[in-house]
Amino acid sequence: MTLTVREPATEEVLAQIPRAGVEEADAAVARAKAAFPAWRAVAPADRARLLYGLADALAAAREDLAQLEARNAGKPIGDARGEMGMVVDTFRYYAGAPERTLGDTIPVAGGVAMTFREPLGVVALITPWNFPLTIAAWKLAPALAAGNTVVLKPAELTPLTALQFERIALEAGIPEGVVNVVAGPGSTCGARLVEHPDVAKVAFTGSTEVGRAIAAGAAQTIKRVTLELGGKSANIVFADADLAAAAAAAGPAAFGNAGQDCCARSRILVERPALDAFMDALEEHVEAIRVGDPLDEATDMGPLISAGQRETVASFVPDDAPVAIRGTAPEGAGYWFPPTVLCPVDPGDRAVREEIFGPVAVVVGFRSEAEAVALANDTIYGLSGSVWTRDGAKALRVARAVDTGVLSINSNTSVRVATPFGGFKQSGYGRELGPHALDAYTELKSVYYAT
Ligand code: NAD
Repeated sequence: MTLTVREPATEEVLAQIPRAGVEEADAAVARAKAAFPAWRAVAPADRARLLYGLADALAAAREDLAQLEARNAGKPIGDARGEMGMVVDTFRYYAGAPERTLGDTIPVAGGVAMTFREPLGVVALITPWNFPLTIAAWKLAPALAAGNTVVLKPAELTPLTALQFERIALEAGIPEGVVNVVAGPGSTCGARLVEHPDVAKVAFTGSTEVGRAIAAGAAQTIKRVTLELGGKSANIVFADADLAAAAAAAGPAAFGNAGQDCCARSRILVERPALDAFMDALEEHVEAIRVGDPLDEATDMGPLISAGQRETVASFVPDDAPVAIRGTAPEGAGYWFPPTVLCPVDPGDRAVREEIFGPVAVVVGFRSEAEAVALANDTIYGLSGSVWTRDGAKALRVARAVDTGVLSINSNTSVRVATPFGGFKQSGYGRELGPHALDAYTELKSVYYAT
């Protein structure tokens, strides 16, 4: 059985690869289990050296990986290069971890109590198609640094850079069996990893719906689970903000990666007195977005990932939708969809409530700080968000009041290698990146030594 991998910009076949199923998942877990005792026993400085070596090998392969990711995921080549840079940085960051995984000593009667952070064993990593290798790296690097062995299951639409990674890791000296990639469907290969008794933990990024099924499945064996799920993040723009800067940043924050971004700030909340001026400025930016060939250096936005995804996105923009701004998109082959802004919308509209995961944003007006916070929190999600204002106290008040894992003030960025990332509410639980990610790949052990 094979897996057909397509290029979303042309709809043409990019690769045919073997399709992993239950048997391949079992074999990968067995390899990872066999490799675990030796990998956890590698001296901390040696494990660090191996991970720095892997980071160097990834840096050397950066352009090839970027080209492959751009073609397979349909993302602009400039974005793909940036993402591969983050992959390298993530490995460099966690390469420092093996020698810095510290414990505590705790004063107790009759002896000494101390804590250790032990690796979990075999960890399954299940990832989505929107940032294929980047999101895999957020899990791979801390998992390996902590002494675990891994089985990575990339999304079936975008498995190519993960398979490249497996080869690069081996060539960089990571011992056989430590990194295993299985490219197959979630319903068979992925589900098997979730139920497998020899898998200690599942680190999942994907939709809230699949996340629910994974949490339920993992409960059977009391597996550790971290879930990075969907979002519907609010970009709150107050009338006293630098409106030109807020409008210029709002487009990329909603339409970057063709809106297929869990952190997409796809609900733009604007204080009423500034609404008209904001919409005028936003229109100029949206109309200037160059949608086209991902490999063209001038492209800002590529196609959607698949015909199915385009159909889903289009269902949020029926003929009678309140389209206030519409950009352009190529015609012909490729899963194209123009950047689209809906306004006015009702807070109950489907486009306001559901994650669209495409280049469609809604703009909603508000009259007060309290209303802005209430609107921002009126969602099952809580992943990211932004506040734009020149009033520092208001910025911090609102930042604290919005129920979201990641928030930016006068900026729309969400993700940094050194800072924790993850969701509130149904956007998931657990944190990736930053120092905190290591907690999710280790178990805390308490040892008492009677003196
Ligand atoms: P998805 O949930 O359909 O699939 C994600 C992964 O899970 C894929 O590898 C898939 O094969 C696998 N899978 C599917 N069913 C499974 C099952 N029953 N058991 C085990 N594995 C299974 O998500 P997607 O469509 O690939 O990605 C889009 C979604 O991901 C969006 O909702 C988006 O918000 C979310 N996402 C979240 C983050 C985050 O960090 N919070 C980042 C990127 C994407």
